[in-house]
Amino acid sequence: MNSNRNHNEYQRYKRLAQQVAYHDELYYRRASPEISDFEYDCLKSELQYLQSKHPDWKIAEEKVGDDRIEGFVTLPHREPMLSLANTYNQTELFEFDKRSRKNLQFNALEYVIEPKIDGVAVSVTYEKGQLVRALTRGNGIEGDDITHNIDTIVGLPQSLKGDNIPPFIEIRGEIFINNQDFLRINLEREEEGLEPYANPRNLAAGTVKLLDSQKASERNLKIIFYDIGYCEPTAEDLFKTQENVHNVIEKWGLPHQEKFWKAFNINEVWSYIQELDFIRKTFSYGTDGAVVKIDNLFLRKTIGATSKVPLGAIAYKFAPERSETMLKGITIQVGRTGVLTPVAELEPVTNSGSLISRATLHNADEIARLDVRVGDTVLIEKAGEVIPAIVGVLRDKRLPTSAPYPFPTKCPACGSPVVRLPEEVAWRCPDASCPPQVRRRILHFSSKQAMDINNLGVSIVDQLVTRGLVSNIADLYNLKIEDFFLLDKVADKSAKNLYDSIQASKNNELWRLLHGLGIQHIGAQSAKELANFFKNIDSLCNASMETLMQASGIGETVAKSIRAFFENTDNLHILNQLRSSGVCMDRVETLAEASSPIKGKKFVITGMFPNLPREELKRMIESVGGLTVDTVTKKTDYLIVGSDPGSKVQKAQELGIPTLSLQEFISLKDTHIT
Ligand SMILES: [Zn+2]
Repeated sequence: MNSNRNHNEYQRYKRLAQQVAYHDELYYRRASPEISDFEYDCLKSELQYLQSKHPDWKIAEEKVGDDRIEGFVTLPHREPMLSLANTYNQTELFEFDKRSRKNLQFNALEYVIEPKIDGVAVSVTYEKGQLVRALTRGNGIEGDDITHNIDTIVGLPQSLKGDNIPPFIEIRGEIFINNQDFLRINLEREEEGLEPYANPRNLAAGTVKLLDSQKASERNLKIIFYDIGYCEPTAEDLFKTQENVHNVIEKWGLPHQEKFWKAFNINEVWSYIQELDFIRKTFSYGTDGAVVKIDNLFLRKTIGATSKVPLGAIAYKFAPERSETMLKGITIQVGRTGVLTPVAELEPVTNSGSLISRATLHNADEIARLDVRVGDTVLIEKAGEVIPAIVGVLRDKRLPTSAPYPFPTKCPACGSPVVRLPEEVAWRCPDASCPPQVRRRILHFSSKQAMDINNLGVSIVDQLVTRGLVSNIADLYNLKIEDFFLLDKVADKSAKNLYDSIQASKNNELWRLLHGLGIQHIGAQSAKELANFFKNIDSLCNASMETLMQASGIGETVAKSIRAFFENTDNLHILNQLRSSGVCMDRVETLAEASSPIKGKKFVITGMFPNLPREELKRMIESVGGLTVDTVTKKTDYLIVGSDPGSKVQKAQELGIPTLSLQEFISLKDTHIT
């Protein structure tokens, strides 16, 4: 009997070990997990429980997760970068306190409580106050060098401000992506037929591992620092307490935690954790718990670490709120590029403080993976606290009559047979005149980052398309004031304003038009670079693959997509229509003379300029036809150096790239403008 149970337990143990290894691989190396953190943590803690019960069973090698991948240089951490033990359980949190007090022989310990940001851990080294490198956690002993991508993070200083800067310090923090940026990027990916990221952390993890730092910079990564690794002198001597670590991080000008608490005993810790759980919903980024650290750094050092986790700190994680509800139906949305996105229509249910009636199902593969069927009872939670997602199906509540969901083979809006392109997960409606596609193309065309046509919102565009007044972007310019009078809820005055904004947009700069055309892979930034390079739409339209790829930031995929756009006769027809309506196709705002040596040159900026914001300097460079880039490479032409410059100066010297002071840059610029 007993041996039978042991046998079953051993089978369970083996299965768990395999599962954990499988999910480790997905989580750490490929940044695309299939299960939620909560499910993963449950598997792992059951595995640990069985292991502690049977120390002789040794399949699952306990190890720190490993994020190192091909293509990156691996470098050692001066002090190991361990991850924290975590718990979802109040009792375990109080046991952590009890154990710590017993070890250190204290009646009460003081703690600092910090929000646990849902991002990617990073160790940034400053030598003599200058940023020299950034490493991922890796396997805890050594990590991947991601300095080229961390350089693109807005708000990360190249040099530390103030006094008492140690000669060498590893500062630990978290790289993350705001909820808003996460939603924006996933929307773009769905439009491009790509797999969306599961949550903001996976997106951040994927982004720091991009080899292309230009692409990384468009993702808008953020960083917050909260701890110290190796330091000369030691962190204990320099900072004394964790509270002081936070204060000094702020004083040095580094991005810091927006809120932390100091507690004088574990009961206070618990009440601050509740407070954090309440206020974190107002943060612009995801948090998944509280980090509790012994405040006194000498004590934290004394208590030490196991081979895997430090003993002086613990992460208390908030279990995601799960709600059970019924899937009433699945509707299909058609996007601007024809991508079909399935949406779950749910019996409304409250989750994490909001009423949820819809959840994205991403694509046909996701529906098949979940095997979710209309009429099923499903579990939902907010992925990364942002997007409602179906995380499971309660099979035992399934109706006997249920059937797998047949993904439509025809576009629900126009009836065209749908197609799936190689290497894409999405099904698309290939008919460009399909009404929802037309509506979304027009909304994109008029959006703020494109033609910026005021007041041309969803309800107006819907009516224009439904009434047959507009069937492509060019038709907008044929509208008369009277046409707007026909629409519901448009007053005479708004009709005039709408008409005027449409007419005014004819004189927009070229990049706005290029972005508005909706060429695949062309965002606002690439549109600006193309406009600067080609100056008018005809040169772009006639450019060969080779010429296209000479423009800054344009790779092969993008060049192909531009060629495909201009080889399509429907698109050429629309361009002709736009042209005959008087839409300007060659306005590029640059004062540069053709002979200016600044024109087309690549500038990198480092350091601070009193009274001159970085953005302003960038505009100055661009106004004379120069380009600004974020990292120093062999292709950089000049490095402009302000006060407190960063590691870029050394890099430029190594590569033999000339440096300019602000004065030198200005005189260079003025010399060549006539
Ligand atoms: Zn269609």
